[in-house]
Amino acid sequence: MVILKKWVLLVVALVAGIMSGWAKEPLKALVVTGQNNHNWQVSHLAIQQILENSGLFDVDFAISPAKGEDMSSFIVDFSPYQVVILDYNGDKWPEETNRRFLDYVKKGGGVVIYHAANNSFPDWKEYNEICALGGWEGRDEHSGPYAYWKDNRLVKDDSPGIGGSHGAQREYPLTARNIKHPILQGLPERWLHAQDELYDRMRGPANIKDLLLTGLALEEKGGSGREEPLVFTVNYGKARIFHLMLGHAGESLENNPAMQCTGFQVLLLRGSEWAATGQVTQPVPMDFPSASAVSYRKDYK
Ligand code: ZN
Repeated sequence: MVILKKWVLLVVALVAGIMSGWAKEPLKALVVTGQNNHNWQVSHLAIQQILENSGLFDVDFAISPAKGEDMSSFIVDFSPYQVVILDYNGDKWPEETNRRFLDYVKKGGGVVIYHAANNSFPDWKEYNEICALGGWEGRDEHSGPYAYWKDNRLVKDDSPGIGGSHGAQREYPLTARNIKHPILQGLPERWLHAQDELYDRMRGPANIKDLLLTGLALEEKGGSGREEPLVFTVNYGKARIFHLMLGHAGESLENNPAMQCTGFQVLLLRGSEWAATGQVTQPVPMDFPSASAVSYRKDYK
């Protein structure tokens, strides 16, 4: 009888172990949005679909009041989430939400800075340290140096001038600067991104931890002429911060090339998992873009 009980317990333990391996709990992600100089009504749904269609994430939204409205009700609880994705560029959050966000980040929270989120809050010192680089909204040499790739290293340049600009949207190649990082491991060193903006002349504390991808902002297309840092991680205490400047939202989910790019989606998925856990368990996809051909996942999966 005792032996039988032991066997039953062993079988139960084995089954439970197998089940936990099969049905891994999805990572909990929060997308913060509601104001943006971009089409956040499209981008936050695209982000949700990309993350949830992978089966790796459950996504909630924190949607702020509209621009100019009373923000005092916008109190966000970040604590249940393993990763917070910022798709917000607008009015100041209430002090309580700022405090909670810093508390979440300082305790080692995962953050993804997506596209124009790096325009937000030019006067909030800690926020700019969490982004490392930002643009527009009056940024200039007082915001910190420019940072760009030159002579095989990341250069910081204190020369005066605007913070944040971009040339005409186009397809452009991205080049890996740290191919061994978990977010990039197994992906090609150079690949063609779908039509998008290429942010240049960004400025800030420039506390970049691992520079992942750069792109050349061609002068003849209205760019800075520099190899610009577009995807990187940020050095900020224990936090895991993934900064993804790509992904200018289109007019609808159907017409949204920068976010329908397989490369963008894979970076968002890998960067979000890394921000949440410090690891990337996702295999290298077969449909990743090559150096000469763009690839799309038009239905975000
Ligand atoms: Zn944009």
